[in-house]
Amino acid sequence: MSLVHITGFINGEFLPMSNQLQPVYDPGNTTNQIGTISNTPLHDVENAVKSAHQAFLKWKDTSIQERQDLLKKASELIFQQKDKLKELLVSEHGGMLWEAETDFYLGSGVMSMYAKAPHDILIPKEIAEDTGWIRIHKRPKGVISAIVPWNMPIVLTMMKLGPLLLAGNTVVLKPSPFAALALTQLLAKIAEVFPKGVINVVHGDADVGNLMTSHPLVRKVAFTGGTATGAAVMASAAQSIKDVTLELGGNDAAIILENIDFKAILPKLLKGVFTRSGQICFAVKRIYVPRDKLDLYFDLLCEEVDKYKIGHGLDAEASFGPLNNKKQWSIVQKFIENAKVSDQCEVRELGQKINPEQWDQGYYILPHAVKTMENSLEIVQLEQFGPIIPLIGYETVEQAIEYANDNEQGLCSSVWSDNIELAYEIAKKIEAGSTFINSHSFDSLQLGMPFGGVKQSGIGRELDINETLKSYLEPHSIRYIK
Ligand code: NAD
Repeated sequence: MSLVHITGFINGEFLPMSNQLQPVYDPGNTTNQIGTISNTPLHDVENAVKSAHQAFLKWKDTSIQERQDLLKKASELIFQQKDKLKELLVSEHGGMLWEAETDFYLGSGVMSMYAKAPHDILIPKEIAEDTGWIRIHKRPKGVISAIVPWNMPIVLTMMKLGPLLLAGNTVVLKPSPFAALALTQLLAKIAEVFPKGVINVVHGDADVGNLMTSHPLVRKVAFTGGTATGAAVMASAAQSIKDVTLELGGNDAAIILENIDFKAILPKLLKGVFTRSGQICFAVKRIYVPRDKLDLYFDLLCEEVDKYKIGHGLDAEASFGPLNNKKQWSIVQKFIENAKVSDQCEVRELGQKINPEQWDQGYYILPHAVKTMENSLEIVQLEQFGPIIPLIGYETVEQAIEYANDNEQGLCSSVWSDNIELAYEIAKKIEAGSTFINSHSFDSLQLGMPFGGVKQSGIGRELDINETLKSYLEPHSIRYIK
């Protein structure tokens, strides 16, 4: 694969390569350079916002039909570009090929959903009064800053792009430096379909992000990423009272009830844990099991996970790939080391290395399982974002619910039982944006179902057509009194 060099683009023009070049290496083989990102100088980030603002002045008056026609084209483009870009995506973000393909499929599906979405919410409403009338218009907000992470960059971007464009806004978007190459190439193609300046892309990290969240012409920040960064984004946006949508970290609990065949549900449960090496915001990150089954279930889980083979994302034999970057790799290593020296849990290293001699050239970590009765352990309380899973024993169902809720995160969760009504009663008591019954992975999501977190997992919802469109609109009330 030849090296891929990317720059940002503003008003339909690629920027020249800047003097802030950032090499990109394959996380599965860090001796292999994949490409270069040209970080966007701050004066060009400023230009990107101005260009998005200029484009907004016309784009806001386009018809809904026109916008939906363009979203349909964007959806088709994502689908068409999948085969060209999926290997590049794997090589820069470390996932499996099927995970990259899923990212494109979901991204295309999200755009298609907004291309076909009912849009009553965009149409002005009139309330007749004896003394006159009230007409309520829904205006787009203006320039949106969209900031996305590296783990599923395509779909997480489209979850913002689809609704914000349909609502009549324009955008300055910043990919993560850890997955910018394929996404930027895709966005450049999509941007060509839209009028110049409607979609602008810039590159960089916190410095660029900070300008995007504080610029006076930006009316809203749509952010997906870690909770600590989300707090910084919110603080920056607060200085000029900007609206925010925050999709942040998760520490999802899966509660396994008494009456279920654990062995039978294991494949589904493990898909929720280890897909993308555990680097999914709504991966299963804590599994609660009845105390008297803890030893048995731990052994069953370990037996299954021990069959995993870990290697490069382009290796079809691999169960999962490396972690995305050194920082994330170090965080997960630290979690494992801390758990190993704790006398309150048992840690098992599992699985096999596909390519032992190249193991240290990538950010690989073998899967680990942890057995404990202690809910306050670091490995239980904090989001691991890696291939490590704690099983925690509970005494009563009430305690399992208490444990699940005893956490600052509340993104998704699941309850596993043969008794669906009982599972439903428990699901209603969990503090989370979504709770799945007898599943907990990509398969659990449905386009149109609200997705987002409570507590420190975020503010706002995506994927729900009305709720999400609403978050990119401002009602404007016009009243006439005779
Ligand atoms: P991150 O917070 O480190 O980075 C996210 C984005 O924010 C990147 O583009 C980064 O460059 C940018 N950024 C960094 N500092 C910034 C600042 N001060 N101002 C503005 N932007 C800034 O997250 P990550 O490591 O890329 O992703 C992993 C995290 O994202 C995990 O916690 C995961 O749970 C979360 N996540 C959440 C969802 C969700 O939908 N809730 C989805 C995917 C990932």
